Amino acid sequence: MENKYDLIIIGAGPGGADAAEEAAKYGLKTAIIEKSHIGGTCLNRGCIPTKTILHTAGIYREAKAGKELGISGQSQLCIDAAALQDHKNQILENLQAGLTFTLERAGVEIIKGAAVIIDRHHVKVDSAVLETENILIASGSVPSVLPIEGSQLPGVVTSDEMLSLTHVPESLVIIGGGVIGMEFAAIYESFGCHVTVIESLKRVLCNFDKEISRNLSMILGKRGVDIHTNAKVTGISQAGNVLRCAYEEEGQSCQAEGELILMATGRRPCTEGLFTDETDPEVRAMNLAKGRIITDSRQETSVPGIYAIGDVTDGIQLAHAASAEGKNAAAAIAGKKPVISMDYVPFCVYTDPEIASVGMTSDSAKEAGKKVITRKYPMSGNGKSVLTMQDRGFIKIIADPQTEKILGAQLMCARATDMITQFSQAIEAGLCLCDIAKIIYPHPTFCEGIGKAAGK
Ligand SMILES: Cc1cc2nc3c(=O)[nH]c(=O)nc-3n(C[C@H](O)[C@H](O)[C@H](O)COP(=O)(O)OP(=O)(O)OC[C@H]3O[C@@H](n4cnc5c(N)ncnc54)[C@H](O)[C@@H]3O)c2cc1C
Repeated sequence: MENKYDLIIIGAGPGGADAAEEAAKYGLKTAIIEKSHIGGTCLNRGCIPTKTILHTAGIYREAKAGKELGISGQSQLCIDAAALQDHKNQILENLQAGLTFTLERAGVEIIKGAAVIIDRHHVKVDSAVLETENILIASGSVPSVLPIEGSQLPGVVTSDEMLSLTHVPESLVIIGGGVIGMEFAAIYESFGCHVTVIESLKRVLCNFDKEISRNLSMILGKRGVDIHTNAKVTGISQAGNVLRCAYEEEGQSCQAEGELILMATGRRPCTEGLFTDETDPEVRAMNLAKGRIITDSRQETSVPGIYAIGDVTDGIQLAHAASAEGKNAAAAIAGKKPVISMDYVPFCVYTDPEIASVGMTSDSAKEAGKKVITRKYPMSGNGKSVLTMQDRGFIKIIADPQTEKILGAQLMCARATDMITQFSQAIEAGLCLCDIAKIIYPHPTFCEGIGKAAGK
């Protein structure tokens, strides 16, 4: 039968696309179904567009501060948001074309349309029913909006709309001080917009090391971002030309006004339309946790032959985690061992300075009752950081007190998101502080700070 596959993948985000390429390498007849744009959230509404805009924001901020560096003409500088959109869209198109080419060259069939799972072995796209040995759900996630009064008002937006703005708002209120909220705060503060962040937890970037949260709040605060923590938003209303966001902070009723209000309050799994009345009850009874699909370590769901990866599952919502799970799922389906170790997933924030973390933090060690030693190097002593005029930053390494084996690292400095991989490799390979202290680091570089932190 022509329409019979070894594997049908639903969703062409980073998880689905990497799974498809890997499956094709194993010789599995693979099709990938995508209802929107190839590349998923990551390429179209997530990682790539935010980092493209952050790149512009970084250059703009540096150029504005350029007088000291011998660059003049600052009064002429401005952000052309429409041109930035064109630039961003060009990048997305290039990457979409590249990904399409990669998948087709690997022999993956790309099918446009919305997929409905009929049963373990059948998937429907429009009116066509495709037969398959295995199904991989990689349908990702969508922004979740707080169910509060005023959340549907025009001007209350999610990251999806923020990434298509063709003007810079004068003021922006961001609800949620997680990674997405803080990246948008960094972008719009750089563009000259007045930014207020309202976070219900006791600090921004609550999943990161305390020192990182504190430093970021301090740095952005100094640049003019208004950050409110332990603050619970109660409603949004229209107040003339602006939106008013009411919140409670330390028992007080407060309000913040913005031309736009960004809801950066997490993401929910995208399963809409995947299961319908046509779906076999066995599939509809798949085990979920708060709507997110539960899988085993091979990425298989409670329904044999149906696998799930990435944001739609109850795992980590990051592009590289989705890709790794995708490759491992393809290996499992082909009867192979996992190809990627899931033990140490790095977490990154692309603010300025960048933030990156892998493995244990001193806070998580404390919670686990584990004794650790911490080596820290302030980047104010790093020549490259000084000559590029970086804000305060540091490299922190967590190690075992007896063996000095590296257990984790947290970086807050320029190029942190690139340098973190050295620590992932060190932890995975069981290296000790002396192993990374004894190698030669080129001078002057940011990574000299790694040697300094390890060698103290
Ligand atoms: C603003 C923002 C910034 C981010 N920045 C980063 C970052 O810097 N680094 C990082 O690691 N992560 C980042 N993320 C998270 C990252 O984008 C996601 O973790 C990642 O995209 C998840 O990949 P996925 O393959 O699981 O799903 P997705 O990328 O969401 O892709 C799922 C695809 O499935 C399709 N689909 C859904 N249902 C169906 C159906 N029924 N039929 C056919 N197709 C379907 C969707 O259209 C979509 O294209 C960011 C997210 C956002 C929102």
